Amino acid sequence: MPFHLSLAGREAAGLKRSLPLIDKVAGRLLWSAGRAYLNFAGNDYLGLSQAPELREAADRAAREFGAGAVASPLVVGHQAVHRELEAELCDWLGLEAVLLFSSGFSANQAVIKALLGKEHLLWQDRLNHASLQEAGLLSPARMLRFAHNDMAALEARLKPEAGLIVSEGVFSMDGDLGDWPGLARLAGQSGNWLMIDDAHGLGVLGREGRGTLDELGVAPEQVQIFMGTFGKALGVSGAFVGGSRALVDYLLNFGRGYVYSTHLPPPQAAAVLAAVRLARRADDRRAQLNQLVRQFRAGVQALPFELLPSATAIQPLVIGDEARTLALAARLKERGIWVGAIRPPTVPVGGARLRITLSAAHTQEDIGALLKALAEAAEGEHP
Ligand SMILES: *Cc1c(COP(=O)(O)O)cnc(C)c1O
Repeated sequence: MPFHLSLAGREAAGLKRSLPLIDKVAGRLLWSAGRAYLNFAGNDYLGLSQAPELREAADRAAREFGAGAVASPLVVGHQAVHRELEAELCDWLGLEAVLLFSSGFSANQAVIKALLGKEHLLWQDRLNHASLQEAGLLSPARMLRFAHNDMAALEARLKPEAGLIVSEGVFSMDGDLGDWPGLARLAGQSGNWLMIDDAHGLGVLGREGRGTLDELGVAPEQVQIFMGTFGKALGVSGAFVGGSRALVDYLLNFGRGYVYSTHLPPPQAAAVLAAVRLARRADDRRAQLNQLVRQFRAGVQALPFELLPSATAIQPLVIGDEARTLALAARLKERGIWVGAIRPPTVPVGGARLRITLSAAHTQEDIGALLKALAEAAEGEHP
């Protein structure tokens, strides 16, 4: 197997990746090689990963249930703590039923694999997450990708009652919102199913943090499949898929990533439950985050960077060239600032960027330090 050739190819293109040496991440800070950095690279948008309520819930569940679920859900893995989390998610999001998964990646795979056969079509936004793109490639359904958020392009390719349209609530590398009113209208008119991956909207947008659909005034009934993750604003990890009782019953029988996978460890389920309860009344954290987003965007205006039209916690600066992106990230690191340097294939070729993410855990001083470091890093480019 010529995998070393693939690796060498990535290396030659300046696209080879390796694990960063992180010692510890704790909210606004992270530590690497004995040094502390301000962390602008995580997805802990509300700062919940460090909340005492979550730690204590995990502790308590570990003592009551143990460290692991010991089986897949249909065997004996599904316990009281899982049922309680499911009920809370349904109540929060207005869903009839939900199914818990150990990751968003496996949830997306399971849903698309279980629902679509070779007679179906699958329409995906071009910028959808790798887990959705890959599920589409592995599925026997015919996948049709449409230009990002381009409803006319989607409409031109739609066929009546032929399959599933999938898009994201908040696009993970751009920070903009999907056109959910438009998607709901087109799906309704054409009699196709609609699925949202709201990994980055859940907890952050809408009333009680219910996500992108609530933010944009789209009723839950208009979107048959709601997928959300616990590893972003909820600060833990894992995911769920929700919708009608019939959909969930079907996935419980045919979703292989659900049926054949060990269930969420009870401490994890308990921490997520605490996170959902906290997120529902976290208007203060959401207000703090929005305030920091405004401060950051106002400050970047004065700098020689291209800011994308994002009003969310994801504030990418598109640099374009990969080497320049890495050099800028390195200069920020020298100044104690850790941001994500995102290169193809995670983003389109020519779209390398600094993926800067803000969190309610940050302070105004942190944003000030980030802006100052960005100004110095930009200046350092043209000595
Ligand atoms: C992170 C992410 C996933 C994967 O979720 P995990 O729980 O991390 O596996 C899926 N979709 C989107 C849009 C994501 O950002």
